[in-house]
Amino acid sequence: MSATVRSILEEKGRNVVTIGPDTTLADAARILEENHIGAAVVCDARGQIAGIFTERDLVRAIGRSGLISLSQSVAAVMTKNVHRCSEETTVNELMEVMTGRRFRHVPVEKDGKLAGIISIGDVVKSRIRDIETEAEQIKAYIAG
Ligand code: AMP
Repeated sequence: MSATVRSILEEKGRNVVTIGPDTTLADAARILEENHIGAAVVCDARGQIAGIFTERDLVRAIGRSGLISLSQSVAAVMTKNVHRCSEETTVNELMEVMTGRRFRHVPVEKDGKLAGIISIGDVVKSRIRDIETEAEQIKAYIAG
């Protein structure tokens, strides 16, 4: 059986770095760097998810408009239609979404509130662990 988002969050925690839509790209880049992360969830004044901003959006903005874009707000370049998941989502489901839709971050929502974020690194780690456990079980079965 595939592991769930809940099992990943129980291990890594539910903290999510959020920024406001008016944050400049320069400030957003600093926040990503300081937190050693590749994405920040953009929340409006009511704390609702308004978008997601990742290093890919930063590169796209600079690639298109140059360094002047560093003074733009994230609202202008973020992805507004954010794909979210729940704690019950399986890691296999997430893997399909991430590969199919070509993004590496999925925020988790619980009761309409932000309750964590899963990155492709978390998915890979969880899959490797599952595969290793399965291999150990097969080895034990053959030896026994
Ligand atoms: P990433 O691979 O996560 O750096 O993101 C690649 C592109 O997809 C960027 O334009 C992001 O804004 C967008 N993106 C990232 N995560 C999501 C998500 N969960 N839902 C919708 N778009 C996303």
